[in-house]
Amino acid sequence: MGSGRREMLEWLKDEASGVVSKWGRERIQTSIWRNPLVAVASADDPLFSRLRTVAAPDHAMPPDLLPGAQSVLAFFIPFTRRLGQENDREPTFAARSWAEAYVLTNQLIQAVNEQLSAAIQERGFEAAITPATHNFDEERLVSGWSHKHVGFIAGLGTFGSHHWLITEAGCCGRLGSLVTTMPLPPTPRPDVEYCLLKAGKSCGGCIKKCRYDALFPDHFDRQACYRQCLANDAHYMDLPLVDVCGKCGCEVPCSYGIPRIAQSLVKEQGTEVYTG
Ligand code: SF4
Ligand code: SF4
Repeated sequence: MGSGRREMLEWLKDEASGVVSKWGRERIQTSIWRNPLVAVASADDPLFSRLRTVAAPDHAMPPDLLPGAQSVLAFFIPFTRRLGQENDREPTFAARSWAEAYVLTNQLIQAVNEQLSAAIQERGFEAAITPATHNFDEERLVSGWSHKHVGFIAGLGTFGSHHWLITEAGCCGRLGSLVTTMPLPPTPRPDVEYCLLKAGKSCGGCIKKCRYDALFPDHFDRQACYRQCLANDAHYMDLPLVDVCGKCGCEVPCSYGIPRIAQSLVKEQGTEVYTG
């Protein structure tokens, strides 16, 4: 893989960071976001075809979104700890700041996508943007394009027991992705489980945080989870659609970085570690 492709990827990472920090400065007084992570999957990665088994039988493949697709860019915009703490402190519903962050981050994801797409087109390639959210089947609650699974394939992180993706910057944040004809170097996937429970260590912090009968040691009740998300939406009638909850991902060992014990299993050092 040529150094030109690696340079191109670094340039795209800078473009994504630039949008997030600009929004942080201009849109709100105190930023609710940290620096985004960006990773790449080859469009012909064999794991994409497995999504129709593990995610949704009608999950799109990269060429469905963009004929001639070469790469899939996945990005994660981590939230600040302050936001996670505020959501954790609210006893029943999601915190207002969490609900507002959801709305604003959907717009930010679109802005990052548009910036990346423009940068890619500037270099003579094509890009297809995928919506930040609400591209799912409301009965089956599965997505036709799962950013979470795409993020996993692209090497952004590993799945936690709470079914979120745990990245180097934790799980507390939002994911986006786009498909492009630009050839880019794929990111290696982590070779260890970041989730403590999945790594055979003791934890279950996320399970304790769920007070809505949705998350258990041995199963996840997707419908119960969605009911709580809709309860939050009803609670914040004055906001646009905010069908979110997030309690299981806030103030747990994997919220803002790879848990310390899992970090010791990671061969490549230099990643962010949550020490709280
Ligand atoms: S809180 Fe613990 S068990 Fe739950 S996903 Fe995070 S590391 Fe895994
Ligand atoms: S998002 Fe809320 S309802 Fe769903 S599993 Fe997490 S804590 Fe439970």
